[in-house]
Amino acid sequence: MRKQIAAANWKMNLTYQQGEKLLDEILIEKIALSPHQQVIFAVPFPYLIMANSEVAEESGYAIAAQNCSDKKNGAYTGEVSAEMLQSIHIHYCIIGHSERREYYLENNKLLAEKINICLQHSITPVFCCGEPLRIREEGNENAFVQQQLQESLFHLTAEQLKTIIIAYEPIWAIGTGKTASTEQAQEMHRHLRSVLADKYGNEVADEIPILYGGSVKANNANELFGCPDVDGGLVGGASLVAKEFVAIIKALKK
Ligand code: PEP
Repeated sequence: MRKQIAAANWKMNLTYQQGEKLLDEILIEKIALSPHQQVIFAVPFPYLIMANSEVAEESGYAIAAQNCSDKKNGAYTGEVSAEMLQSIHIHYCIIGHSERREYYLENNKLLAEKINICLQHSITPVFCCGEPLRIREEGNENAFVQQQLQESLFHLTAEQLKTIIIAYEPIWAIGTGKTASTEQAQEMHRHLRSVLADKYGNEVADEIPILYGGSVKANNANELFGCPDVDGGLVGGASLVAKEFVAIIKALKK
């Protein structure tokens, strides 16, 4: 069975103390994860090292960065490198979240560089793709996400691709309270898998976890995660509430 993943994206929210309390409230639940289940908390940079020491002992739980530089090192004030993340034992990093694409003008080509640098430092990228509302209204969402994959991932070998996690996040559903229907989610996840299969073959495509993101909540996670090609979720707002995120973890396929 493919990995089933609940990934929290705290974005630029919570003080360190609030974050610590939230983690405690979730970890105290001692949710038993099966070997193919994984829970990831993408926390703000300053919390990475502290949160990692808290979470590292729990098997199946990991701390992630929300971004990293496309550059190896050097005079890039304010940036954080993949090498720095690796040096504090961070094994996951979100790459290409739509907020990075929109507010920091990250494009597919730059994201390909970030993917490369993560892989060079043994960091699993959680690569985000997804279309804006206008593209969906025009009926061009399949071609749009296909191009995102082609331009940011298709230079990878099959062995490299197999180490990646993909998150499909329709931009119109992020933080809006609007969720893709289970049909829309399943249809797009199937499409993404077929795009991967065309390039890398079915066996590789079948191994890649594809998470859904966009207003996942306790009350819709079961239905969304129940879709055959949805392998869990990347969760923003609801990951800031312990009770919500605990229910979301419990909704992962067993
Ligand atoms: C996200 O930040 O990736 C996200 C999906 O946010 P939300 O769950 O709040 O829509």
